[in-house]
Amino acid sequence: MMGKPRIAIVGAGLGGIAAALLLRQEGFEATLYEQAPAFARLGAGIHVGPNVMKIMRRLGLEPAMEAMGSHPDYWYSRNWDDGAVLAQIPLGDYARRAYGASYLTVHRGDFHRLMVDAAPAGALRYDKRLVALEDRGPDVALRFADGTEAVADIVIGADGVNSVMREHMLGAEAPRYTGYVGHRAVFPASALARFGMPFDQCVKWWSEDRHMMVYYVTERQDEYYYVTGVPQAEWDMTKAWVPSSQEEMREAFAGYHPMVQALIDACTEITKWPLLERDPLPLWSRGRLVMLGDACHPMKPHMAQGAAMAIEDAAMLARALTVVGAEDHETAFALYRANRIERASRVQKVSHDNTWLRDNEDPSWVFGYDVFTVPLVEPARAA
Ligand code: FAD
Repeated sequence: MMGKPRIAIVGAGLGGIAAALLLRQEGFEATLYEQAPAFARLGAGIHVGPNVMKIMRRLGLEPAMEAMGSHPDYWYSRNWDDGAVLAQIPLGDYARRAYGASYLTVHRGDFHRLMVDAAPAGALRYDKRLVALEDRGPDVALRFADGTEAVADIVIGADGVNSVMREHMLGAEAPRYTGYVGHRAVFPASALARFGMPFDQCVKWWSEDRHMMVYYVTERQDEYYYVTGVPQAEWDMTKAWVPSSQEEMREAFAGYHPMVQALIDACTEITKWPLLERDPLPLWSRGRLVMLGDACHPMKPHMAQGAAMAIEDAAMLARALTVVGAEDHETAFALYRANRIERASRVQKVSHDNTWLRDNEDPSWVFGYDVFTVPLVEPARAA
């Protein structure tokens, strides 16, 4: 590899775009190839914990994030029918002091847009669906659905749960449907005024086999969001999501607290998504190819840390390539995996079990993590 390596990133989701920005900060140049023709502001919220906000700080995006998101003082967990508080986890000023950055809840589309806008002109190529790649030894050839090709020295697969990179490296295998769906709805908070109830800034309603997570997604707290986890025996794997309805929500949450009923009454546009998983993969990289985020560790969203893990991966990959140097990419990839596998697998497991913050517990192992300062583990010592 002479001079600067040509880095191709497949997929410009939150993990891919973060990788492009972080690599650029370290002096690398990367081109993003995204299958979508454009990005829309899809109806979904996302938690951005202090572990991610430290990465936004490094990118110079922390002030814009602070101005964009809701700043909940607490995460509440409540019992499904009587609303009794099961856990009250301090966030707000406490998070800034204890974990070193803010805890926000934001609109996923706003967060993604901020990062996309931070990418330099020409770094993001839309309408480029990767269909094949070939590691030719000295370089990698990428082929896209529109018939075009590209050549790179390093290829980062940030192409999500149905990753073509993963399939190329490990063979075709569909992700596992977990038997759970997530309903999602974003709606104006003004629609709640008529109920005259004290809605929480950030709350998870729990019963034995289902839940509803609810929070504001804007700094002004004028948009509210809910996302559920509800058992459903089957899912048509040809569909990424389907429309849902208030009737379906009323049935799924029958008997839940009046505040949950009010949320259901307040919003007519609801979508339903399958919750998918994979077992931990035997390898995250091969030769010049490496993966991050949902491509290598998709998980149930029950810790609200899936995107956070993708963004942390991106930061650790940039750190490893900087420490080792891109010419020795295989050593860099081994260092990257060694410093991500344990944490990503633990988050995958806790997300699967859906126990996170149900009771009062110390979340500092997640929120207090700083990907830039955590001491590096040698590959031989990692799992
Ligand atoms: P993705 O976001 O899936 O991005 C992959 C990108 O690659 C996409 O843009 C896609 O179009 C592109 N792509 C795919 N294939 C190709 C191809 N062949 N060629 C080119 N481009 C391609 N996480 C949180 O941190 N907090 C939350 O609150 C949260 N809530 C969630 C709620 C639900 C209901 C669900 C389902 C998930 C939630 N997650 C949450 C998880 C989070 O959405 C994922 O973990 C995260 O999006 C993974 O990021 P990624 O960049 O790895 O992949």
